[in-house]
Amino acid sequence: MSMTRPPDIRPVVAFDRFALWCVLGLVGCGDGTGPLLEFPDQPAPDPQPPVVAFKDVRVVSTQTDRSLEGQTVLVRDGTIEAVGPVASVSIPGGAFVVEGFGRYLMPALTDMHVHITEDTFEELRNDYLVYLANGVTTVRIMWGFRTMLNERDSIDTGALLGPDLFIASPGMDGPGGPWAESTAPVATVAEARQTVAEYAAAGYDFIKVYNLLAPDVYEAIVDEAALHGIPLVGHVPGRVGIERVQSVDQRTSEHFIGLKLAASSGFTAGTIDVSRVRELVTRSAAVGLWHTPTITVDALSRDERDAIRAGHELGFIAPGVREFFESGFHHGLTGSTASRERDNHELMIREVDRAGAGLLVGTDAGFGWMLPGFSIHDELDGIVAAGLEPSEVLKAARVNAAAALGVSGEMGQVIPGFRADLILVPADPLRDVRAIRDHDGVMVRGRWLSRGTLDTWLEQIRAGYGN
Ligand SMILES: [Zn+2]
Repeated sequence: MSMTRPPDIRPVVAFDRFALWCVLGLVGCGDGTGPLLEFPDQPAPDPQPPVVAFKDVRVVSTQTDRSLEGQTVLVRDGTIEAVGPVASVSIPGGAFVVEGFGRYLMPALTDMHVHITEDTFEELRNDYLVYLANGVTTVRIMWGFRTMLNERDSIDTGALLGPDLFIASPGMDGPGGPWAESTAPVATVAEARQTVAEYAAAGYDFIKVYNLLAPDVYEAIVDEAALHGIPLVGHVPGRVGIERVQSVDQRTSEHFIGLKLAASSGFTAGTIDVSRVRELVTRSAAVGLWHTPTITVDALSRDERDAIRAGHELGFIAPGVREFFESGFHHGLTGSTASRERDNHELMIREVDRAGAGLLVGTDAGFGWMLPGFSIHDELDGIVAAGLEPSEVLKAARVNAAAALGVSGEMGQVIPGFRADLILVPADPLRDVRAIRDHDGVMVRGRWLSRGTLDTWLEQIRAGYGN
């Protein structure tokens, strides 16, 4: 970002910053003389007052494909308190005001599929900031560890700054799986029941199921999870199959694994039986099974891997994560395999959408060269490229996420009573989701992080890693 910073203007000083910036030529003067050329960085004072007002913003709806201009959005103690026309919402004295200049205020993003592969807590906490800097204020960790539960609670209480963490258990897999070294496999019904009980007692938000579970072990997991009231998420185990998964209470299905196993001639880049996919996703719609396509990681090409490896953004990512990428087994698909795989995922995304089944946005960040935070923008692009409207994709990235996380009615819209997790964006994200990459700042739980603040943090992280 090459933004001119205004001189040191303290927001506590009671004069009209808009008028000053207009005189300084930092912004258009609102007299119709032309578009806004520069957006001034507006860092929050420290400590930030409990009330923050976004003045003169266009509020982006996740329910329609329209945004509402000329609005003031009032945030108090982390919650949206009021939304209305500038003339009718009065801003309390002492509030910190972010001048919107007609920019777009949208709900922040949720990444529904991330992994923790950092080596240290310092790295992990840096990556939290990288998520926030990308507008991701909620993540679902899809292979949790016990130490993460404390992190989740520290973020909840505000002791630690980071995205809200929803944490699935370590993946429950049968013997012979690729992650057996980090998590012991589950081979018997008795082990399955005991493990689910332990994970539920430990405080995980979900039980994650994985590829190689035996059918009787899977059934035991389903049953035991129901006893403890803990929802099931994860892969479709190959020997269980998607139809069985659809008939039990598994909430989400990752990577289109179940669809591919049931309706493709080969797992990667096979020939898809479209009518079979249609039949299956119609069932998903009926039973409420959510699908997380993870198109970016699954269709990653070797060229895309090379670009990420050589890219500027890798410099912000923890060494532990980078080492995991280098040593990992996913380095992108070669030749036409990548484009065929992308076509297949795009087809399945369209079929999920047409059937009215639930779509989620998840990246697999922390695995397979998916960078924490940054990769969600590629996933949004990837789903739009499949043919969905930006409004549907943004709805998937927040409203659907809230529903699948069991927190509907708390986040995903810019309306009173909802969590103040917001992104201020220079252009209409309902026309082009790429505008979100160029945001002017992010609010997490009512705390405003201007672009300048976030960029400073990112540079400190990069310097700390010696990049
Ligand atoms: Zn994953």
